[in-house]
Amino acid sequence: MNIFLTYDYELFFGESTGSVDKCLIEPTNRLLNLSKLFNVKMTFFVDVGYLIKLKEFAIDNLELAIDQQKVLEQLKCIIESGNSIQLHIHPHWENSFYEDGNWHIITDKSYKLDDFSDEEIRRIVRNYKYFIDTLTGQKTTAFRAGGWCIQPFYRLKELFKELEITIDSSVFPGGKFFSLHYDFDFTNAPNKAKYRFESDVCIEDLDGYFTEYPISSWRYSPLFYWRLYILGRLFPSKHKMLGDGIFLSQPGRKKSVLTNFTWNHVSTDGYYASKLNTCLKSCEKRNFSDMVIIGHPKSMTNYSFQVLENFIKDNHTKHAFRTFKELL
Ligand SMILES: [Zn+2]
Repeated sequence: MNIFLTYDYELFFGESTGSVDKCLIEPTNRLLNLSKLFNVKMTFFVDVGYLIKLKEFAIDNLELAIDQQKVLEQLKCIIESGNSIQLHIHPHWENSFYEDGNWHIITDKSYKLDDFSDEEIRRIVRNYKYFIDTLTGQKTTAFRAGGWCIQPFYRLKELFKELEITIDSSVFPGGKFFSLHYDFDFTNAPNKAKYRFESDVCIEDLDGYFTEYPISSWRYSPLFYWRLYILGRLFPSKHKMLGDGIFLSQPGRKKSVLTNFTWNHVSTDGYYASKLNTCLKSCEKRNFSDMVIIGHPKSMTNYSFQVLENFIKDNHTKHAFRTFKELL
């Protein structure tokens, strides 16, 4: 089986973005060390809107110029070590700004691409793709929507074709969430390792231009989330996130996961990593050709790094760890 370890390279989008060192540089360096140790490659979906704003505000803010230098050096390392950089778009950066030593993140009516007009969507996606392709000297072909909000896809279809974005990895089958910011519904997505689609990410179309590599998903029990929250409180050195920012709030979500079975990603983030082997076995049982695992450097914990290391150690000779770059 092909296993794709994919990381969304981004800060936090809540009341505090957190620091570049704790959310990006340090955890990503630990990921790159694992990549090197076992010679397994990873895909980093880089939040390009952040890079563009960083460049803009670094001109007048020395601390941001330092952040920018660190991030650019790390992205260079990612590429030189044979790992892949692909396109991740959080369009709320369009209206966000830096003032008095802090990022002010503006997400209202600008969290997802669907919040913008057709003309604005074209400008944003073109700009972001051009920016990352120029920066890396490579052509991105894979996309992950910020906050998984890729619907409705018909608004992006022609633009993506024009830009030769052929792969999407935003869907996680079963997932559904609607709030002031988020809006996605993957309850009807094909439960397959990958599939072709054309106008709707949840409808398979054998002749479709695009290929969906869905993020593997799992139906988590309320007990799982009780454990997750309790362990974080009891053993912070093991289970506290390494990133030092605050998540964008998802009203109602905590109550929902603590009382219902809910679909969510197969992930290396924090306590989710405890499910990696179980989920892998489930993919093997279904004879899946591919398994996409998501993670965020900011959400890694000392615990999840240990579990991830064991997972790679146990599986890197049995399975092929691949990146989206290799699918060209
Ligand atoms: Zn993201």
